[in-house]
Amino acid sequence: GETFKVLIKDEKEMIKFGSKVGSCLEKGDVLLLEGKLGSGKTTFVRGIIKDAFSPSFTLLNKYNFKDTQIYHFDFYRLEKPDYDLFIELEEVEDAVVIVEWPKFDIPIFEKSTILKFIIFEDHREVIICGEKAREFYQSYSKK
Ligand code: ADP
Ligand code: MG
Repeated sequence: GETFKVLIKDEKEMIKFGSKVGSCLEKGDVLLLEGKLGSGKTTFVRGIIKDAFSPSFTLLNKYNFKDTQIYHFDFYRLEKPDYDLFIELEEVEDAVVIVEWPKFDIPIFEKSTILKFIIFEDHREVIICGEKAREFYQSYSKK
């Protein structure tokens, strides 16, 4: 599919990018956030949900969002697949699922938008592909 790239100069701009993506989100959307530690994944989520915090210890944080919920996962510390959790994930309907470090392949990931966060010396780049890549890209480029 198509791939898009955005340049993000600082933290404030990453939050703005997150909020633009947030305005596109609907029930059933799945976002996979890839990229090294400190690349801006959680900062991006803070643009979608103002008070979001890293789920790297809790594994999952749930938030109310518009008329639905957001399930925000971080699999970084999950060393082996947790099938009970994955079954629970498969049963998530009518919500938005966001996963940092999507290192296990789960069926619901098949229909997702992938955002890859890359660190450069003086900025970040985010490569977007999959389901809603064009929509996310356009919502941000419009400003
Ligand atoms: P991750 O969830 O990918 O581990 P975080 O979002 O928790 O990363 O941390 C990113 C860190 O990088 C924050 O401390 C943030 O202030 C800093 N930072 C510097 N420049 C940027 C940028 N352009 N976009 C996002 N974060 C940035
Ligand atoms: Mg994080």
